Amino acid sequence: MTSPPDSAPPIRVVSPATGELLAEVPDEGAAGVVRAFAAARVAAPLWEAAGLGRRAEALRRWRDAVLDDPEVVRTLVAESGKPRQEAEGVELLYFCEVIRFSVRAARVALREETRSSLLFLVKKTRLVRRPLGVVGVIGPWNFPILNNAADAVAPLLSGNAVVLKPSEVTPLTSLRLAELWRKVGNPADVFQVVTGRGEAGAALVERVDGVMFTGSVATGRNVAARAAARLVPCVTELGGKSPFIVLASADLDRAAEAAAWSSFVHSGQACIRTERIYVEEPVAGRFEELLAGRVRALRQAPPETPPPGGHDLGAVTFPRQIEVVERHLADAVGKGARLACGGKRRADLAGLFFEPTLLLGATQEMAAMREETFGPLVAVMRVADAEEAVRLANESHLGLNATVFGAPDEAMAVARRLESGQVIVNDVLVNYMVVEAPLGGWKESGLGVRHGVEGIRQWTRTQAITVRRPLLAPVERLFAKLLAFPYDPRVLAALRRSTRLLYRRGLRAKLGSPPGERGP
Ligand code: NDP
Repeated sequence: MTSPPDSAPPIRVVSPATGELLAEVPDEGAAGVVRAFAAARVAAPLWEAAGLGRRAEALRRWRDAVLDDPEVVRTLVAESGKPRQEAEGVELLYFCEVIRFSVRAARVALREETRSSLLFLVKKTRLVRRPLGVVGVIGPWNFPILNNAADAVAPLLSGNAVVLKPSEVTPLTSLRLAELWRKVGNPADVFQVVTGRGEAGAALVERVDGVMFTGSVATGRNVAARAAARLVPCVTELGGKSPFIVLASADLDRAAEAAAWSSFVHSGQACIRTERIYVEEPVAGRFEELLAGRVRALRQAPPETPPPGGHDLGAVTFPRQIEVVERHLADAVGKGARLACGGKRRADLAGLFFEPTLLLGATQEMAAMREETFGPLVAVMRVADAEEAVRLANESHLGLNATVFGAPDEAMAVARRLESGQVIVNDVLVNYMVVEAPLGGWKESGLGVRHGVEGIRQWTRTQAITVRRPLLAPVERLFAKLLAFPYDPRVLAALRRSTRLLYRRGLRAKLGSPPGERGP
């Protein structure tokens, strides 16, 4: 780790569950970013030259070391305040799954292709996927592995060096992962973590050859604007206001179970979590009763409270989220919503704990139904029918994720009408784990995708190298006359005739069309 610049005070990393100081890390600032990039620029060409096989092996070694290291989960739980089951069952599992999938998918994503020209049949073009160079990953505080180091996997496999700037709130897990990366013998400068505040993130964007950002809409917009000005690719995954629609045909018990989990996982601090619930009037009473029962039964405690895995909710990681929850709660109650359970800070616990809070009788003009809450509060609104549910669900500037519960065909028909990058039918959130499918937000929820072959290839640039077909070299001399000095009236006349023959009579169309464009 580099020494902090004189002016910047160190970053104090505090346990949200106990308030104790966990560690101090330097604010490496823009100077730290400059140093990391200088090293990464030297390392990147060697990493590319190592080839996919060696890179995949390095990623697998890293995964095994992370799995074997008890410090990783302990650190993650300590700095985020989330329950162990979420640290292991969401973040660690996801890290392993992303590496498993990406290693296989990279073979497809990075495979060279040959494209042939019908007009210049003497030529063939080789499409080569080359890495961008040095990719920056800017991570949020809510998922210290999943939206931080795990987002480095696709760029690394594609042959890029990565500089990761984790959130100043939860940098310790990323530092541990970087340590393990080096410990297993992987090249240190290929994956580096720079700790710092927002300025370090901004400095990163000024140097990257491509950037992956997860966080707020406001900061994401700035990052995208800077990336656009520099003409470098930018992927952003920003906020969500995910609707959860319960149709009258739904399995209400399962819907209530899923609504409780997706609303309060990591105390509601997840971008794709359920933020608002719309339920069809005929089943609303029963659904609300079932949901309230499940929310009341949630057990909240500091994460390391014994027995391990014996509680459901931990702490709120980011103090500001409690203020947002309190504001949305006051606004909703002021406008007529009923508090079914929760509603206050846990005075009996030392850290940042807010009771899981359920509001009933919500209406669309309440802040809890319109603005991202990102905390342990969810509101239920009754709707007349699916039509109204779709209209209200789409009434948002965000479009990251959505859930529909109901008879499969009916739910699918509703899903198709939602303005959302992801929709899941009769289940919740696990679509994030389907790493085979590209995942990205619509509207102000972001640009671009992670996951899928697409999520790997985007960290490369395509180089098209056109060469001659050796067997057709004699014919090439004829083509050379076409586009070379000296021009010749006989060639021009022949060119004119053949162009008309090829295009006006549709002969060329009959000869063939590009792959994937063949018509009936
Ligand atoms: P930010 O978007 O400000 O932070 C996300 C990351 O960007 C952090 O690493 C942050 O560093 C960094 N950053 C801050 N300023 C800049 C900058 N100018 N250029 C580049 N990077 C920068 O989110 P917050 O942590 O402040 O949370 C605010 C709100 O965002 C939350 O209340 C929540 O609503 C939403 N959010 C959404 C997330 C999602 O998954 N989509 C995740 C987290 C938050 P640092 O933390 O050191 O300032």
